[in-house]
Amino acid sequence: MARRKKIYEGKAKILYEGPEPGTYVQYFKDDATAFNAQKKATIEGKGVLNNRLSEFFMTGLTNIGIPNHFIRRLNMREQLIRQVEIIPLEVIVRNFAAGTMAKRLGMEEGTPLPRPIVEFSYKNDALGDPLVPEEYILAFGWASQQDMDDIVSIALRVNDFLAGVMHGVGIKLIDFKIEIGRIWDGDFMRLIVADEISPDSCRLWDMKTNRKLDKDVFRRDLGDLAEAYTEVARRLGVMQSAPVNIGKPKLIN
Ligand code: 5GP
Repeated sequence: MARRKKIYEGKAKILYEGPEPGTYVQYFKDDATAFNAQKKATIEGKGVLNNRLSEFFMTGLTNIGIPNHFIRRLNMREQLIRQVEIIPLEVIVRNFAAGTMAKRLGMEEGTPLPRPIVEFSYKNDALGDPLVPEEYILAFGWASQQDMDDIVSIALRVNDFLAGVMHGVGIKLIDFKIEIGRIWDGDFMRLIVADEISPDSCRLWDMKTNRKLDKDVFRRDLGDLAEAYTEVARRLGVMQSAPVNIGKPKLIN
């Protein structure tokens, strides 16, 4: 069998050439990394969960008219996506103080913010994805003013959608990160949501107990990451019946 062409390998995903022009196959690995890959582990079942959860969120976005890269899921670990030109920014939306914001401003994690705050990091592993003001983004030509207006509007719509879906299952959406890509239709360019939406890129707290159900479980050694992600999937009705940690196949004599 011919081997697929690998386009790009990241920390948690691999992109392969897709079956049709303008498509990629996105493969979700079980690898987890944190602190710019200084902490690493393999967490059995994480890739399967994130594939399904990203499918669930992206399909929801499509249903309410927010364009994104998802075409269809291919199997347990792979989905067909549209090829995009990624804008080198992490677009972060925060509803409550946590993580780097809480640290930077000396705020207690979980403090509600007066309104959702959108911020941008420059996607560059070597520099540790530094926070950048819009002024830098415009000056360096990573995006135009029109792009930025569209990106903020998309980010806030995604926030309303995700916060609502999560609220429905007793989860507080603390913050999340998305990436935005360009697609070209002749001379016309559109911005769409790309990459993934999963507990790897969100902060999700149980509404009653504040139990963390996201990648902070791994970052801060708070317990079993696959179990936390399974809980999110279970509440959302994704993978209701499938046990994730099915272990390795056993030989039957
Ligand atoms: P913070 O800036 O507080 O570390 O992160 C804010 C939000 O963006 C969190 O939900 C976090 O998971 C997400 N985020 C920030 N940087 C990255 C990244 O490089 N990869 C992923 N998957 N998520 C990120």
